[in-house]
Amino acid sequence: MSSDQKRLRVIIVGGSVAGLTLAHSLLKSNIDFVVLESNRDIAPQVGASIGILPNGARILDQLGLFDEILDATEPMQEAFSWSGAGKLISSTKAPQILHERHGYAISFLDRQILLEILSRNLDARQGQILTNKRVTRVEHLSDKVQVHCKDQSVFEGDIVVGADGVRSTIRQEMWRHMDSVVPEQAKKERALMSSEYACVFGISTATPGLDPGQSHRTFAEGYSALTIVGKEGRVFWFLFTKMDKTYTASEIPRFNNEDMEKHMEKYLHIPITDTVPLSAIYQNEVSKNFLALEEAFYTHWSNDRFVCIGDSIHKMTPNMGQGGNSAIESAASLANYLTTLTQGSSIEISDIKDCLAKWQESRQPRTKTVSISANGLTRLEAGATLKRQNHYTTSASLYEPIPH
Ligand SMILES: Cc1cc2nc3c(=O)[nH]c(=O)nc-3n(C[C@H](O)[C@H](O)[C@H](O)COP(=O)(O)OP(=O)(O)OC[C@H]3O[C@@H](n4cnc5c(N)ncnc54)[C@H](O)[C@@H]3O)c2cc1C
Repeated sequence: MSSDQKRLRVIIVGGSVAGLTLAHSLLKSNIDFVVLESNRDIAPQVGASIGILPNGARILDQLGLFDEILDATEPMQEAFSWSGAGKLISSTKAPQILHERHGYAISFLDRQILLEILSRNLDARQGQILTNKRVTRVEHLSDKVQVHCKDQSVFEGDIVVGADGVRSTIRQEMWRHMDSVVPEQAKKERALMSSEYACVFGISTATPGLDPGQSHRTFAEGYSALTIVGKEGRVFWFLFTKMDKTYTASEIPRFNNEDMEKHMEKYLHIPITDTVPLSAIYQNEVSKNFLALEEAFYTHWSNDRFVCIGDSIHKMTPNMGQGGNSAIESAASLANYLTTLTQGSSIEISDIKDCLAKWQESRQPRTKTVSISANGLTRLEAGATLKRQNHYTTSASLYEPIPH
């Protein structure tokens, strides 16, 4: 950075896939940042896994992180599809072909391991990742943002980035700020989230009949299952089911362990392959969780000094494995745009607004296409017809033109 370039300070709220990728990307551009994460542990084991696909891998490789990820995984080679009656529908080498075409293997691993790799590789910048920092409020001032945490600490910066997931506080704070400037804009956004499918997902130890490097999908009316067999046979599994109705915003259900066990009882017999039922994996589980799958594609990704990335602003269902990879893309592309801000000798709020608006405009069309495909795949795999898919892809803004 030359002496006449302006130092930009970015407050990143949320230290997960999007937030830590942004931290790495800003580091490459010599942009000052701090990550505020509400959890005590930056890489908690919550039973989640993640598949890094070529679009995410390409970015993580540029950040010098992909080799470690690859070491922790078994590259995917074969994909099998089964009917609900356990009949083989197809078996392909599609994962291998994807690898050859894009140069990156599909790499499935515990999300905990990915977060550990992302945070450990920030090396000397570890002091800029602060845990136990739950952000509760943001004050937007003419020359800065003040980010307030539950423990009364306050952080100041030029821009606040909401990388705080589907229930984003920063998105709420951005809407609160928008209410004070243009009251009608945020109203529509608030009602936008919906959920029609739920997912029990977990990680199990090696299970006979399931070989590393294979994936299995089961398609049936109202549900689908996905099983990925990773390094040393570790099994990452997902059961997607259609709920009794489509829930919107605040009525989206939350499930407890009792709900999960009761729900699973109905599905333990379903085939993962012709010889392996879901019950065989379930009895080997080391962690599991039950969630309603939210869908939301928001129109306003930024306003003044606020900007949101990842699940906080483009939340899709997981069957296509693109939620995290899209979060990685959004983080890297935002960093590229923020870098342009540092070229001048001063940064006015009009420069920030202009930069964030250009970023949003560049990023929305692709993310919208990916979201439509991802949400549609969940429906297709659970036997919804094409007509019903369109009808039930509930995130209405996906079908509205992107405003310029
Ligand atoms: C079952 C399932 C399977 C999935 N599989 C895949 C897959 O294979 N591939 C893929 O690409 N994606 C997958 N996804 C999606 C992927 O997990 C998400 O898209 C990704 O984690 C989004 O990252 P994020 O950083 O935006 O949000 P999150 O991962 O939700 O992280 C948000 C972070 O913000 C923190 N936070 C929240 N509020 C505050 C606050 N007020 N103050 C401070 N910190 C806060 C949270 O503690 C958390 O660490 C899957 C999702 C599900 C549900």
